[in-house]
Amino acid sequence: MIHFDKVNKWYGAYHALVDVSETIGRGEVVVVCGPSGSGKSTLIRTLNRLEAIQSGSIHINGEDIYRRGVDVNSFRSGIGFVFQQFNLFPHLTALQNCTLAPVRLRGLKPAEAKEEALALLDRVGLAHKANAYPAELSGGQQQRVAIARALAMRPPLMLFDEPTSALDPEMVGEVLQVMRALAKDGMTMVCVTHEMGFAREVADRVLFMDAGRVLERAVPQAFFSKPQHPRAQQFLTDIRAPQALTA
Ligand code: ADP
Ligand code: MG
Repeated sequence: MIHFDKVNKWYGAYHALVDVSETIGRGEVVVVCGPSGSGKSTLIRTLNRLEAIQSGSIHINGEDIYRRGVDVNSFRSGIGFVFQQFNLFPHLTALQNCTLAPVRLRGLKPAEAKEEALALLDRVGLAHKANAYPAELSGGQQQRVAIARALAMRPPLMLFDEPTSALDPEMVGEVLQVMRALAKDGMTMVCVTHEMGFAREVADRVLFMDAGRVLERAVPQAFFSKPQHPRAQQFLTDIRAPQALTA
């Protein structure tokens, strides 16, 4: 479904993605991990055309997403993207956040959009909060609304960039639970996350990045028990003993 072919990206002189070639199948759940600054966000953002690439190509469902003539706004709105900051529209209710794009961009009638949005809010456990404004919701609830809002565009693919990193610890589980359910339903997902428990349990494959390269790709069981690359071994040691880093 997704095919990266020798993708290179520079920020000025900085080589942020180095010859990335990767294939992700339909229904696959891929967790991208690696140290801070390794290029995880950059990689995931290329799938949404939020970043220009300087060489190589990216195909989604057979379409070159960087070819000339792609309507970038409509393309972008068709792929679900959930990131660290929930960025809901503060002046709209949870429900209105979920109906805006479907009405404007999918051409749904307001009543249809509302019905779909309520079903999606129910799916993330928030039907009872449909009329609440973001400021009236906890961080975990806001992030679940953000997921429902992304799903409202019926995306073929969901991208997550550290969706739980800004949450208080007690709210992480409820968001991961929604992501787990999506994965079970067969959604194709690319997730940047430090939640290694999620990776172990839900991912079909883990990609490990360092310095703009994908250094390792493996099923979680293999990645966590026998990482091959020394940088991956170091990364896993570091995240397993975080107190050692600050000591
Ligand atoms: P990660 O998500 O793995 O922490 P990023 O993809 O955000 O890493 O960043 C990879 C590298 O590219 C970092 O060194 C970062 O400083 C650099 N970078 C990211 N965005 C920009 C930008 N807009 N301009 C210049 N450098 C950037
Ligand atoms: Mg990042």
